[in-house]
Amino acid sequence: MPDAPLATLITQTAPIATSSHGGRAKCLQRLVRLDLPVPRTVALSFDAVHEIAAGDMPDISAILSEFPTDALLCVRPSSEDPDWGGPGAILNIGMNEDRCKGLCNRLGEEAAAGLYLRFVQSYAVHVARLDPDAFDDVEDGGPDALRETLMAYEAETDEPFPQDPAEQLAAVLRSMARAWEGTSARLLRQAKGAPADAGLGLVVQEMIPGLGQGECGSGVLQLVDSRTGKPQLTGRYLSQSQGREALGAGARALFLEKDARGPSLEELAPTAFADLKSYAGLMRRRLREEMQVEFVIQDDDVHILDGVRVARSAQAAVRIAVALAQDGIIPPHEAVMRVDAHALNELLHRQVLPTAERDVIGAGIAASPGAATGRLVFTAAEAQASAARGEPCILVRRETSPEDVRGMHAAVAVLTERGGMTSHAAVIGRGLGVPCIVGASNMKFLTKQKQLVATDGRVFKAGDTVTIDGSNGQVLAGEPEMLEAAQDDAFQTLLTWADEARDMGIRANADTPADAQTARNFKAEGIGLCRTEHMFFDPGRLTVMREMIFAETSSGRAAVLARLLPMQRDDFRELFRIMEGLPVCIRLFDPPLHEFLPTSLSGQRELSEALGIPVSDVTRRVEELHEYNPMLGLRGVRLGVTVPEIYDMQARAIFEATLEASKDGAPVVPEIMIPLVSAKREVELVKARIDAVASAVSAERGQKFDYRLGVMVETPRAALRAEEIAPHTAFLSFGTNDLTQMAYGLSRDDAGRFMSNYVQQGVFPEDPFHVLDVDGVGELLKLGAQRGRTGRADITLSICGEHGGNPESIAFCREAGFDYVSCSPFRVPVVRLAAAQLAI
Ligand code: PEP
Ligand code: MG
Repeated sequence: MPDAPLATLITQTAPIATSSHGGRAKCLQRLVRLDLPVPRTVALSFDAVHEIAAGDMPDISAILSEFPTDALLCVRPSSEDPDWGGPGAILNIGMNEDRCKGLCNRLGEEAAAGLYLRFVQSYAVHVARLDPDAFDDVEDGGPDALRETLMAYEAETDEPFPQDPAEQLAAVLRSMARAWEGTSARLLRQAKGAPADAGLGLVVQEMIPGLGQGECGSGVLQLVDSRTGKPQLTGRYLSQSQGREALGAGARALFLEKDARGPSLEELAPTAFADLKSYAGLMRRRLREEMQVEFVIQDDDVHILDGVRVARSAQAAVRIAVALAQDGIIPPHEAVMRVDAHALNELLHRQVLPTAERDVIGAGIAASPGAATGRLVFTAAEAQASAARGEPCILVRRETSPEDVRGMHAAVAVLTERGGMTSHAAVIGRGLGVPCIVGASNMKFLTKQKQLVATDGRVFKAGDTVTIDGSNGQVLAGEPEMLEAAQDDAFQTLLTWADEARDMGIRANADTPADAQTARNFKAEGIGLCRTEHMFFDPGRLTVMREMIFAETSSGRAAVLARLLPMQRDDFRELFRIMEGLPVCIRLFDPPLHEFLPTSLSGQRELSEALGIPVSDVTRRVEELHEYNPMLGLRGVRLGVTVPEIYDMQARAIFEATLEASKDGAPVVPEIMIPLVSAKREVELVKARIDAVASAVSAERGQKFDYRLGVMVETPRAALRAEEIAPHTAFLSFGTNDLTQMAYGLSRDDAGRFMSNYVQQGVFPEDPFHVLDVDGVGELLKLGAQRGRTGRADITLSICGEHGGNPESIAFCREAGFDYVSCSPFRVPVVRLAAAQLAI
């Protein structure tokens, strides 16, 4: 096979590909194919540029022969992905004494000298690599400045400035090729996702000067607003200027629209303006993308130098994709593919404006997305007081417990020193949609003194204003400008298309009626996990819950449970009402008891008052219930087996609510889920009692109902023994928070302290509580799924750990044949999109 030509004139049929010549060369060819007025361009392939860097120069005279003899040239980079960057463009190659004289007649002495001067400057700095200080500060100079700069060049290099265009071009190509191969450039692009061997193409293009007698200048134009994505002609144009770089001189730029600073392009060159608009429209239709057009006007004619994908916010990305599909330019499924699912988070929550200044004072794990500004408070009570005064506040705690939940409700954001992706603060924060950073251990939390010490030593006191960016984990001083959430019509349309494409169910983890309503608003197809203990975080109920935990006798416990029953029944009836016949999966109590015990003396005093018992009794009971490792202690089904009255009460509440809710509409079929199972016998015992409660309720009310019993696979043993568990259960739901904790032997509440260190050192590729560990925990999921199906062919499989809201992790679940994923309500839209992208 003959070698591909190293330098190719771009024509309609030249063999130009993004993978061998880069995106810019390919785009220019597309523009040529559309018959747009593109200046003559020669594309150098990745191989050619690689050889140039290695010292092997292609035939420069052959390249020059493609252009008119007196043309000035420019060279621009063309990497495979424009985001990977590349060396800056060099303009006006070919300028020398002779051409400068020649151009004096056409452009005038000042302008011709200005062109030459700019070339000498950029050549000196970027090609000859001379000290930029000696060349950069000469601006807009005429002949005098040019002379001085040429002398400076000669003084620095001991050589006159090269006059031969071929020599100039060769030097430019060599310097750009070598710049690409430099270590820092390589590291920079690798950080943006470029492979180690990413190639660089170069395009050599005839310069259209943008200077001259008629209307001349350069500009950029796009048809939409980059921030909103709405149709809006935007751009900049500067008469008598060259290239995108010159447009930075803001004050002199004439906007395309009428502007107080001078006539618009439309007034200066109406025909060119009309052409430009129609070219931009053509590019949108035929390149099937919203493009920014880089253009030059020369003597009233438009030339198109380049087209680049319009830079866009997440909101604009959605609107642009939807509009392209609505205009019939791309099919809806392609619009679905074009939006990054993670980016939807930005539309669901307020964000720090991407261009805002950030005064970072600390960082932690980005546990719940969105940003909020408020005054620092250090206790839940202060948070509530602040909210009552109408003052937004940030709740700062070392870690949170159920006692803090009301404060978390009242706060606009939460910051904790400890914890990881699945710790209490993180789970509750996500559920509430409150921005949250956990594990910010690089700051000092002097909560007693009500002070927060920044990484750089600055001290922030209660009342100081701070911003939490829960999307990237940064704590910021002050109040940066924000970008509002934007779930507009385009957002809804995109998600409707996504729903048509996806083949996996999506439910929400919702514990309260408010969560359930959010889940419905985001079109979750049911509740996949209702953590019933979270229904008891409300202070009034917390005390009853504690009474139950504190009850020492069966009769004492029965009395408290009788008080809890109607509360739970109302909770469930409300959930069933909101979900209107969609499945609701209720998990029986799973509290690690320590979460509900008052740890502080004041908390214990309060409880003693509420229970009417001496503080010493409370303290004694707290001590009795103390566990060395509560996450592996008396929780979940272990509580159900050893204190069965609790599950009995919950089952009764569920069944009674089922009957009541079924009165108003279609019969409700509740799902009941047993947590933390590790042995088949646990399921047998609990199932027998729940069946008995179902029969009792049915007999008492004289009505029949159905229910589905399921098991959470949260211990490695449950996954391994899934085959013998499955026949007793209608579904298996993988609780990957605990499963990850137990597979790694890694405390989900403590791992935050060293997680970033571990990730930085490459021990873990990512936080496994955030992104499913496909190799290890994933293995357990696959085994569990496969064994579960062997035990019962029609078993329903799902995931309800936090991983259910992570696009990468759900890809794994889909592959493993899971029926649905369940995630925090605010993640539902992200997952709807991600699931569709997997199916397309
Ligand atoms: C889990 O362990 O994955 C789970 C969903 O339960 P929780 O987070 O409440 O322990
Ligand atoms: Mg769990």
